[in-house]
Amino acid sequence: MKKYQELTKEELTELRDELNKEFEDTKKKGLSLDMSRGKPSPDQLDLSMGLLEVLNKDSDMHTEDGMDVRNYGGLEGIPEARKLMADIMGVKPENVIVGGNASLNIMYDTVSRGMMFGFLGNKPWKDYDNIKFLCPAPGYDRHFAITELFGIEMITVPMKEDGPDMDVVEKYVNNDETVKGIWCVPKYSNPQGVVYSDEVVKRFAALKPVAPDFRIFWDNAYAIHDLYPDKNVELLNIFEECKKTGNEDLVFELCSTSKVTFAGAGISAVAASERNIAEMLKYLTIQTIGFDKTNQLRHVKYFKDIDGVHEHMKKHADILRPKFEVVLKIFDEELEGLGIGTWTKPLGGYFISFEAMEGCAKEIVKKCADAGVKLTGAGATFPYKKDEKDTNIRIAPSYPSAEEIATTAKLFALCVKLVSVEKLLGEI
Ligand code: PLP
Repeated sequence: MKKYQELTKEELTELRDELNKEFEDTKKKGLSLDMSRGKPSPDQLDLSMGLLEVLNKDSDMHTEDGMDVRNYGGLEGIPEARKLMADIMGVKPENVIVGGNASLNIMYDTVSRGMMFGFLGNKPWKDYDNIKFLCPAPGYDRHFAITELFGIEMITVPMKEDGPDMDVVEKYVNNDETVKGIWCVPKYSNPQGVVYSDEVVKRFAALKPVAPDFRIFWDNAYAIHDLYPDKNVELLNIFEECKKTGNEDLVFELCSTSKVTFAGAGISAVAASERNIAEMLKYLTIQTIGFDKTNQLRHVKYFKDIDGVHEHMKKHADILRPKFEVVLKIFDEELEGLGIGTWTKPLGGYFISFEAMEGCAKEIVKKCADAGVKLTGAGATFPYKKDEKDTNIRIAPSYPSAEEIATTAKLFALCVKLVSVEKLLGEI
């Protein structure tokens, strides 16, 4: 098949009519599928049902240091849960606070704290006329929603194959005192599945921010979410690198078991320097009486240790991998060589990122919706939902069944073709 750009007007018109017919036939099937969010599927959630059996009325409800998890106390998390989450992030337990049911909550609270009280004796961010966050994009829409809500100006940083464009990051961070933070998803980024290279991690650790209260939000949501557990995909440890550069206060690292056990009912954690952790605890004491320690104990009893977590993640990979492979196979068969799109082939995480021809993403998402398939809104992966080129679409293959995935991927490919032809014919 020739590239669409090489077809004559007559060929394009004929193709459009064929594709339109196919589209109308598909519409008649009355599909109702949702690929808009990276949710675990019911069979993935079933993997963790044993979590509900490790504690019962006869269980010993004490931690290894003798605390009764049924009672108040232990704001920083129970020791064994701190150890488990520390092992996921490759840090020491004393640098970890185990939070509630979602890491997003910790991110929100941390930005909120920067706004209201400032970090480590620095002026609260609210006292500036304007402050900025760097937002590597495409990225995670909920990160951008937090900074937008607080009125923080968002600067889009282009994503490259090995992480954010570090020339841009350095230019801002090392020269602009109003740049106070950056959102990073360093492993299997949402939505591209990018793993930051060693060089990128080292350059982050070597930043020389003019703002003493600049912070990296290192959201390691997919730290252990490999699709191919045998492939050794390693992310350099940011804290070890920061130790070498004396920049240990620079990073808040986040993770959770939302996509390990139950989404929205797991445990979350933050890792940070000793000073940052002490300050967080100072404010947390006022904010909450403590997080759910029974859930922390449940998680530890269920997994036992980090090896138990890795074994469990292999079962997730076995469910997710075929779904990703179905999408990628269909894209290869239907779209390869047509010059109308490129897509990522991630080794982990929850998303495939699709780049359409300029000006086509919104129309493709709309067409899919017209035929009964809901996708993440085009533009959602950019600050202010503004994808200037209108090219990026996030595909979330985790939730639907394998058959539904195939139907969806085919419909998506059809919509990409149709919209691209219409674009080339000058119709959109
Ligand atoms: N961070 C990233 C990059 C995500 O993609 C997600 C979920 O999609 C989250 C955080 C949410 O994590 P949690 O459920 O722990 O709030």
